[in-house]
Amino acid sequence: QAKEAGRNAVRFFDPRMQRSVEAIATLESDLRQAIHEGQLQLYYQVQVDRDRRPVGAEALVRWMHPLRGMVPPAQFIPFAEESSLILDIGHWVLDEACRQIAAWSHHERTRQLVLAVNISARQFKQPGFVEQVAAVIRKHGIQPARLKLELTESIALEEIGVITAKMHALRSELGISLSLDDFGTGYSSLSYLKRLPLDQIKIDQGFVRDMTVDSSDAVMVKTIIDMAHNFDLEVIAEGVETAAQLELLEQYGCVVFQGYLFGRPVPAAEFEAHL
Ligand code: C2E
Ligand code: MG
Ligand code: MG
Ligand code: MG
Repeated sequence: QAKEAGRNAVRFFDPRMQRSVEAIATLESDLRQAIHEGQLQLYYQVQVDRDRRPVGAEALVRWMHPLRGMVPPAQFIPFAEESSLILDIGHWVLDEACRQIAAWSHHERTRQLVLAVNISARQFKQPGFVEQVAAVIRKHGIQPARLKLELTESIALEEIGVITAKMHALRSELGISLSLDDFGTGYSSLSYLKRLPLDQIKIDQGFVRDMTVDSSDAVMVKTIIDMAHNFDLEVIAEGVETAAQLELLEQYGCVVFQGYLFGRPVPAAEFEAHL
């Protein structure tokens, strides 16, 4: 029966399939239920510095479906982004991440970690987003410096003045940090990047994956690192899986890393045990 459910799950969530009205309605109500019944869970993936010391983590959402098992975000986040569901999920993620930061603040080995939370463009765009973040920080009584938001170039849908004002409020008024995720995959120009108040750029894992076998990807990585440093931005490489990738990244001057080489995304208890 589980196998049956598993097979259905593949059909059900496969974004390439034409979704029937009925299937969409089911997925939507399932996901609403998931938020309210506690089926969402955050996993944590470690980020390390040049000495391989843990400096932070990225929170990555999972849907623990009662029949389908663990559903990865790629199978429901894009769907949720088509509706206001992403706002509910995003709010839950932010709240849960800040609750975790508060819990970590009580322990020697975790209190210095900075937790990065993925923010969808639609979530960032909603009026009152800055106030929402401020309220969640206040609710959990956390140090804002322990929270980092990961934005993607898709926020560019909004007017640049509005974007920079919001980012400025988050950084300078609230005191949290901002990272630009999946960098290199979007269309932002250098002048656009220069105007964004950022702390960090995250090199997309696609470039990291192929940098040891494809010289054009290696050039991309090197260029992004040099550019980040020229703009006074920290740069983190994601998707680091091999010692060869790490070596080349270090040679290019990258000093913060995330990837299976250092640890997979795991539940909080497991994350703490591995520190
Ligand atoms: P992302 O933010 O770029 O996250 C990195 C993805 O790469 C994660 O996949 C992570 O598990 C995976 N990864 C990390 N290290 C390695 C590695 O060494 N090799 C490989 N092959 N993969 C690695 P995951 O958890 O499936 O998340 C996929 C995407 O879903 C995320 O990409 C992000 O765009 C989105 N997402 C995840 N959680 C959230 C969330 O809470 N809110 C929003 N809005 N989006 C989320
Ligand atoms: Mg991310
Ligand atoms: Mg990424
Ligand atoms: Mg990605």
